[in-house]
Amino acid sequence: MNPISLAIPFLEHLFSSDVSRGETPPEATRDMAFSRKLQAARLQKHSLSMKQSLVRNGHFPDGRTLGGWTDQWYRNQLCYFTGEKEQSVYKNGRRIYRFRDRYIFYVTVTDTIASIEDLRDEDYICPNCGNVSSVGALLDGCKYCGTHFEMAELFPKVTSYYPVSNPGGTEQEIKKEIIHNMLMVGAAAVPVMLLISLLGADFHALPSLIGSLIGGLFGGVLFSVVVGYLWWAARKIGGMFYEACSSVPMLSSLNSRKEFAAAMSRYMPDFSYDYFTGRVISMLECVIYSDQDERLPFYEDKDRHTYEDVIDSTFRGALKLEGYQIKDDVCTVHVKAFMENLACRGGRIVRRRVPIRLTVCRNLGFMQNTTFSMRAIRCRGCGSSFDAYQNKTCPYCERPYRFSDYDWMITGIQ
Ligand SMILES: [Zn+2]
Ligand SMILES: [Zn+2]
Repeated sequence: MNPISLAIPFLEHLFSSDVSRGETPPEATRDMAFSRKLQAARLQKHSLSMKQSLVRNGHFPDGRTLGGWTDQWYRNQLCYFTGEKEQSVYKNGRRIYRFRDRYIFYVTVTDTIASIEDLRDEDYICPNCGNVSSVGALLDGCKYCGTHFEMAELFPKVTSYYPVSNPGGTEQEIKKEIIHNMLMVGAAAVPVMLLISLLGADFHALPSLIGSLIGGLFGGVLFSVVVGYLWWAARKIGGMFYEACSSVPMLSSLNSRKEFAAAMSRYMPDFSYDYFTGRVISMLECVIYSDQDERLPFYEDKDRHTYEDVIDSTFRGALKLEGYQIKDDVCTVHVKAFMENLACRGGRIVRRRVPIRLTVCRNLGFMQNTTFSMRAIRCRGCGSSFDAYQNKTCPYCERPYRFSDYDWMITGIQ
């Protein structure tokens, strides 16, 4: 399957749905849907609503495939396309914030490579009721809510996406931008220049009047072309400078990733840096949007950090590895995630780029795959599956569990 044919309609659907209602397309995972619901609640708490729109343009409006990684049951494919995203925030129906920029959208699509028979016993979160069942049970009818699913409703899924700022546009788009700036300047400059030259004109002599008119018009247009272009260039250079300055720390993440992947693959043969990144970011997003983060099974932090004023958080595409150690089978990793947050402060919306330092850990002693959901856990005591978001202990045998025995978890945010 070509991942682009799922990724593009998915993001178009996602961006046209109301963020403040917490809606997600059916191809979203339960984790993504959960995080959107938390974000909707956060917006409601601030009495705000948010709308987004997406226009595909730039160099790759139809997308490209980038490769991916595979484990025992799943194939993850990464693809991207270019476009413009607009984001507006409303208070009492009035727009109080608007931001528009060009991006490269990276999307991960997860599909299964196993046969239905192989997958029958794999855990899956019921897309209807959220309980943990096996794939086979869902195909025969969920034992909790009774819904029957087709294989096509369970796979493939979009497991992550993030926009990376894209300063370049096509030649045509740049021309359009320059002309737009010239017209903006012209709308003010041409009438002013005309007025000035007419004030000095002799209204009794026709040639002088015509001369003043032409002079004013010509002067206004020339002024608009020169100043419009300079204005565009100044904004472009300013923007690129800002982009470059804020991206320098991100670039250093490129080297560390290979080294880390090589080290990890000694302990986890299936280790994928993209999977790791996707996992860390979706956990972080839940922590940021959650008002009750003590209920998140994959988060424990004594000095709690509060992100109460954050109404939108976007991963900028880079996770920097700052160090790791392995002790008693537990692998602890320190990373820095580059995020862009929209915060509501005193009724105003502020956009800020923030690096967030995180400590994550995982027990390498038990390597059990939690597939592609952070919710499904299989009890090590009795073997039952349950929803980790709802239960701190196994609901069947009451055995307590620690999330890091199953997958990565956040143990600290600095
Ligand atoms: Zn169900
Ligand atoms: Zn149990």
